[in-house]
Amino acid sequence: MHSKLVIYNTLTRRKEEFVPLKDPFVGLYVCGPTVYGDPHLGHARPAITFDLLFRYLRATDYKVRYVRNITDVGHLEHDADEGEDKISKKARLEKLEPMEVAHYYTDRYHSAMEQLNVLSPSIEPYASGHIIEQIAMVQRILDQGFAYLSNGSVYFDVEAYDKKYHYGKLSGRVLDEMMANTRTLDGQSDKRNPFDFALWKKASPEHIMRWPSPWSDGFPGWHMECSAMSTKYLGETFDIHGGGMDLMFPHHECEIAQSTAACGHDAARYWMHNNMITINGQKMGKSLGNFITFEELTHGTHKLLSQAYTPMTIRFFILQAHYRSTLDFSNEALQAAEKGYERLMKAVSTLDKIQPSATSSVDLHDLEARCEAAMDDDLNSPMVISELFEAVRTINQVYDGKQKLSAEDLADLKRVMHRFVFDILGLRDDLARDNSQLLSSVVDLVLELRQQAKASKDWATSDRIRDGLSQAGIKVKDRKDGSDWEVE
Ligand code: ZN
Repeated sequence: MHSKLVIYNTLTRRKEEFVPLKDPFVGLYVCGPTVYGDPHLGHARPAITFDLLFRYLRATDYKVRYVRNITDVGHLEHDADEGEDKISKKARLEKLEPMEVAHYYTDRYHSAMEQLNVLSPSIEPYASGHIIEQIAMVQRILDQGFAYLSNGSVYFDVEAYDKKYHYGKLSGRVLDEMMANTRTLDGQSDKRNPFDFALWKKASPEHIMRWPSPWSDGFPGWHMECSAMSTKYLGETFDIHGGGMDLMFPHHECEIAQSTAACGHDAARYWMHNNMITINGQKMGKSLGNFITFEELTHGTHKLLSQAYTPMTIRFFILQAHYRSTLDFSNEALQAAEKGYERLMKAVSTLDKIQPSATSSVDLHDLEARCEAAMDDDLNSPMVISELFEAVRTINQVYDGKQKLSAEDLADLKRVMHRFVFDILGLRDDLARDNSQLLSSVVDLVLELRQQAKASKDWATSDRIRDGLSQAGIKVKDRKDGSDWEVE
């Protein structure tokens, strides 16, 4: 059953009921990483925000095609289309092939996502694998008269576009003001206007990543890949486009202009943007020394960190804030998230230890409806978490014998807790994992003692240990050089 999901549409600047084009199918496109550096804290927030959306849509019976791209070409250093290609530059500095750089950091990104329990999208297209589609779309925009060829490069004609459609509808920027505020061109540029952006760039002789096109040997502009790949996999009109707020301008504004210029209408019906993470109140940036990679976070090796934080603590920390609010990272906030996460996981495992009573003394029947209502209100995950903590208090009271739950109510509470904690919020019980490591160490220790008993021919102790472990559900297999064990 679908629920009544309401999402804040950045395009219309208001909350709207979500109605997909072709119920129950939902097309979701999210801008993925540019793979030229280690995954960092800034990658975690959009990934987790749209993972939450993906999970919730699936949990409410939508069939979602989730496309999240990998940018491995065309993202230049300055203003998206000036300067060196970010991947090329890294390759040049490290004496690698650009595709080696892209592959290495794509692997690192995937590993971080797996640790954060972010589900793999349905399709993960690479920009470099869709050059033909991008060239075709550039040609469509040229044919419609919204682009011009200049010295082998193709630029989007923002002024011509603005006359027919309105440029700036997502970011709220007004072209006249942009014209007044931008520097004039220095005569070196191929652009007619400084706010025009590249659809195709002619490659300079030293530029490594290049493909043939009708206009020049070159490469696509950064914004082009998302328009081309979303159209290819989701169609000319699709449901939701997401990404970080930092991508709203110019990237998403340009995507809208490209799709509208090529197809005559907007591509995405709902735009969703997650807010940014700040660090001790400051914007995260390499020059500020507060740029924290995922590995530094999980190993505690950055100078701003007082300890290492597990991926689940980071996930819980991000879910504790609404995705449209800023989220300030600090050791205190992360430590509070760690405690909160552990308290929630303990309560979920406590549920398995509770003995049901004949009747219930508490009523938790509306827990699921309250959690759903919170999710329906523009993915209000902090509200879901506070509802779950209400349930945690009750679970602990029942376990302490202060309240009672019938077998039926207990089973239902387990179902609801599992659905929201694991399936929808996407948390994973890493404490249980720790417990399994604990079990391993204890069993290994006991078997070492049994080995010593055998060595001194103390068969009674040796058998006592084997039988005791067997009663506890652990089967010991004797081998020549010691013993193995498994949980039966
Ligand atoms: Zn994009």
